[in-house]
Amino acid sequence: MIVKEIKELRNIIKKQKLEGKKIGLVPTMGYLHEGHLSLIKNAKEENDFVITSIFVNPIQFGPNEDLEKYPRDIERDRKMALESGCDIIFNPEVAEMFPEPLKTSVQVEQLTEPLCGRSRPGHFKGVTTIVTKLFNIVAPDNAYFGQKDAQQAAVLIKMTEDLNFDIKIKVCPIVREKDGLAMSSRNVYLSTQEREDALALYKSLELAENLIENGERDVNVVISKIRNFIESHKLCEVDYVEILNFNNLEEIKEIKGNILIALAVKLGKTRLIDNKILEVN
Ligand code: AMP
Repeated sequence: MIVKEIKELRNIIKKQKLEGKKIGLVPTMGYLHEGHLSLIKNAKEENDFVITSIFVNPIQFGPNEDLEKYPRDIERDRKMALESGCDIIFNPEVAEMFPEPLKTSVQVEQLTEPLCGRSRPGHFKGVTTIVTKLFNIVAPDNAYFGQKDAQQAAVLIKMTEDLNFDIKIKVCPIVREKDGLAMSSRNVYLSTQEREDALALYKSLELAENLIENGERDVNVVISKIRNFIESHKLCEVDYVEILNFNNLEEIKEIKGNILIALAVKLGKTRLIDNKILEVN
């Protein structure tokens, strides 16, 4: 069932809560793939009632980004979500979520500065604001996000703590295509040649893990090997390659502890991200 209005959704949730049901929320922008479905399946296992939101959120896109051409197919999404255990799809129009321009926003500091925060100014403010609205509309017990967007997960965990949302944030592993490419709604933009070169993201992360397993501890050495590898693919243009402490997203010199290797790469007009989190002794 697709619900388009906040009021109707609230009534449905109220009934579920009166029956003592545990609510899981999976926020997405739609054009679902196995990555999204893994979040829905996890939510179904841990909750009685699962709501998947499908909303291409305009306030998290920059002026020259792909808001207009972002892929949309609600009928396909509806089938896939329901088959994976979703109970209700919340698919509001932009005017339902933003009847008037907002004069309020939610912003997490520091954690939003590196990585995608640097390349996409205003992006995380758009994410934290829309997720706050969804949290207030749904008031779920658990909310599900993917490690694919590792910085987003870290930002939302901090926001949830700082603002005392009574919601558990669950972060699920990255789901990949057979050859290793991280699933993304944006993969449909790739030409055949770009799709081949896009494998450089995953392979460079594997290369980095190997280097670290073999004793390399210098962040700059690993970063430059990742960069060189990616740049040896002629359609790839590196946006960033960074290795940070995953707990606070701060820069490190030596590879040690819980680290995040994160990258963003442009192939033509398509920007892809991928990452690996490692615990290094
Ligand atoms: P999006 O629709 O791209 O905004 O993504 C919605 C949610 O699905 C976010 O929490 C993403 O991190 C998660 N997600 C996207 N791709 C993947 C993937 N390949 N594996 C796991 N989770 C994913």
